[in-house]
Amino acid sequence: MDTQTTVTQEPQLALPEPAYLRTAREEVPVAAASELPRYRVLDIPFNPVDRETATQECFSAIDSERFHLLVTLGTEMVMNAQVNHTFKAIVEQADLVVPDGIGLVLAARLAGLEAPERVTGVELVHDLVSSSPEGTRFFFYGSSPGVAEMAVENMKEKIGPFECVGIKDGYVQDLEEVLTAIEQARPHVLFVALGSPRQEAFLADHRERLEKAGVRIGVGVGGSFDVYAGTVERAPQIAQRLHFEWLYRLWKQPSRWRRMLALPKFAIRVLLGPKRAVRVDR
Ligand code: UDP
Repeated sequence: MDTQTTVTQEPQLALPEPAYLRTAREEVPVAAASELPRYRVLDIPFNPVDRETATQECFSAIDSERFHLLVTLGTEMVMNAQVNHTFKAIVEQADLVVPDGIGLVLAARLAGLEAPERVTGVELVHDLVSSSPEGTRFFFYGSSPGVAEMAVENMKEKIGPFECVGIKDGYVQDLEEVLTAIEQARPHVLFVALGSPRQEAFLADHRERLEKAGVRIGVGVGGSFDVYAGTVERAPQIAQRLHFEWLYRLWKQPSRWRRMLALPKFAIRVLLGPKRAVRVDR
């Protein structure tokens, strides 16, 4: 396992000016999960799947011959996509977009649509690591130095053995170093924890190279490594069930307050706006 990480003295943004700021994305292949239902909330698409369907889709992707970009779409990301059109284009072209935000599920239900549940990045990591076909290779990219190592160790202890073929922290300065490590490790599944929209941009920008490296799923998983490493706690089950995880997060990480203003803005637009949620063919 390649657990080598390059630590910068002062952690700073690892990625250079992202190419996702360019608008042209026509060359990116169109989504495959077209058989799955697709909704649009505030004009941003997602697939209203449950956890099991999401995992099954991932298994098909692992067994396929091409790269699939998965997005775990949170409410803040929906609001970002309202103003960041390049990010919106990435979500439009993703192969599977799961609703990682209770806001999306509730908005769909409010419009009379069926939306089974929220599917979080944390859960997706768990389900893929614990039940992917034997021989599935995983690469963990992102979070502060040492966090992914700790997350993998904890998961192995709790879930059982799985094949982690590489780790790079999210503060490595040289992006080429990250891509080369992925190419050498040839993982089937690449978890990217850089925060949104950086993680989705990384996957979209390098999808051809990742595909050649054998990557079949690239998925942005936000703060999931922190959760498994124990550096960030998830809200207690009861708060999750009552849909108050956001409040717990705000309490634990008050510095997020500005970002979290997106949540009431989302609620207001969903409640008062004309295009709250619709079912679409594609
Ligand atoms: N992160 C990173 N490199 C960066 C900036 C952030 O690896 O340049 C990591 C950070 O350490 C954290 C993750 O990105 O582990 C995302 O955190 P956040 O809670 O912002 O993600 P969210 O779940 O809200 O998308």
